[in-house]
Parts: sequence; C-alpha cells; structure tokens
Amino acid sequence: MENSRHVSPRYRGRFAPSPTGSLHFGSLVAAVGSYLDARFNHGDWLVRIEDLDRQREMPGATSSILHTLETLGMEWDGDVMYQSQRSEVYRNAVDMLGKLGFIYPCICSRKEIADSSIMGVSGPVYPGTCLRNPAPINKAYALRVRTGNDVIEFNDRLRGLYSQRLRDDIGDFVLRRADSMYAYQLAVVVDDAEQQITHIVRGMDLLDSTPRQILLQRLLGYATPSYLHLPVVTNALGEKLSKQTHAAPIDVSNALMQLVNALHFLGQEPPLEMIEGDIASFWHWAQENWRVDQIPH
Ligand code: GLU
Repeated sequence: MENSRHVSPRYRGRFAPSPTGSLHFGSLVAAVGSYLDARFNHGDWLVRIEDLDRQREMPGATSSILHTLETLGMEWDGDVMYQSQRSEVYRNAVDMLGKLGFIYPCICSRKEIADSSIMGVSGPVYPGTCLRNPAPINKAYALRVRTGNDVIEFNDRLRGLYSQRLRDDIGDFVLRRADSMYAYQLAVVVDDAEQQITHIVRGMDLLDSTPRQILLQRLLGYATPSYLHLPVVTNALGEKLSKQTHAAPIDVSNALMQLVNALHFLGQEPPLEMIEGDIASFWHWAQENWRVDQIPH
C-alpha cells in the first residue's frame, strides 16, 4: 500500500509491448498504468518493442502501437528500443553466464519434458535431465540456466510479498531456444538493465515471471527494479485479453473514452465531466491524481 511519490528523481519506467497485434484494452491498461506511475513520480517513460519472435509478429503492429500511443497523447522519452536488433547483446549476456558456469545445453524435446515433468506454476517443471546426464550435442540444443535451491522473493507494490523456489516451481528455464531465438526472460532482464529501468509496472500475468528475472539480474550483476503488477483485463469468458482471445484493437476515434475507461479499470476516480474535456486535461488530472492504493487487487 502506498500513496506517496518516490523520492528518487531517477525514476525510469517503461512499456514493453510485443507487436503480435494492435494495442487492445488490456495492453492499454498496462501502458496507462506504467505511464501514470512514471509521470506522477516525475520519471521517464520508455517504450521497448519486444519483437524477438518474428513468427508471432503481426506485420504493421509496431507502427500501429506507436501511432496509437501518440494519438492517445502518451509521449515516450528517448528512442524506442527494438529487441530484434539486439541479438549481439543477448549473446554476450549468455556467454557471460556460460563462463560463470550457470548454464547448460539441453536437447530434450517438448514431448520428453511433458512426459517426465510435474506441473509447476507456469507449466511443466524441467526435471534437470540434461544437467544430470549431459547428452552428446549432436543436434540443435537449447541453453538452460541452473535455478539452484534458493527461494526468490520480492515485494510487489500492489500484491505484497511473492516468492518462488525456482527449482521446484519453475525448473531450470530456457535462455536460448534450440532455434537460436533468445528467450523473453533473458531479453527483458538485459534490456531493463540497459535502459536503467528502476520501476516496472505491467500486467499480473507476468507476476510469476518476476522471480526468474530477479535470478538473472543477480547472476548478471544487475540491480533489481521495483515491481507493480496490475490487474489483468479479461473478457466475458474470464480469458485475458490478447491476440489469441481476439481482443478488439483500441478505437482511436474515441481516444478520450478509452483512456477514461482504462483509468476506471485501474480504480482511479476521474470526475464525470472529464469525458467532455480533451486529452491534455485528461492527462493533467490523471498524473496529478494517480493513486496506487486505489488499484483493485
Ligand atoms: N512484451 C510483454 C507483453 O507484451 C511484456 C513484457 C514486460 O512488460 O516485461 O506481454
């Protein structure tokens, strides 16, 4: 619980959409929450396009997302970062973890893992097969990080204490897939560090990824930012809004209405007449009156 501004003048927040489709109401809520928290704290707000997975990318989604943010009056600081241009940096991070002895190759197939695993908090827990019996590397292999037996815990600004014993809850996880694609968990940690992000505000669906990211921050010698996981928007079936659940793109012809709805979803209480005003006065009010302790959780 909190309702005060952060003292640090160095607040740096970010919004990191994956360009798998246009911005929908769920991603708008993450954008608005991270933007307001940054602006309320007189911080910077950066945008990073998480376009690592070129196969899941929808052509035109990146420009559509950026254009929507602009139309909604959300100005970002600095240049947009693109993960698709950063394989070199991710390779260096993986090399470093390799030299420190924290990773190992894995040739297990998805099916083998499913057959020999128990379910954890985010899918099958890798049982460590290739750690115990290093296999001959005669085919494409993934790289996994050793999770060790420590409990990783952090204080979410909204949810309070959250902890995982990674080895049991998640298992040694993949940093680079067998097709050479770097994993989200690695890229997000490397990029948040490079962009000097101090405060992460994003959807609750990523809560269970956070201990993995904190482990990598520790192994790579990076600082751990503060975290706030926002409630996730669901549809009538209780599914998270996403491209897979066919979420409708934000209708920018009605930008103010969308913003007011996002604010309501985040538990903020804009005055009724706000809907008749303009985008500039919306942001003025929202930035001044941002209250984290009103966000439902
Ligand atoms: N790219 C992720 C998504 O669109 C967000 C990653 C993050 O905020 O850490 O769901």
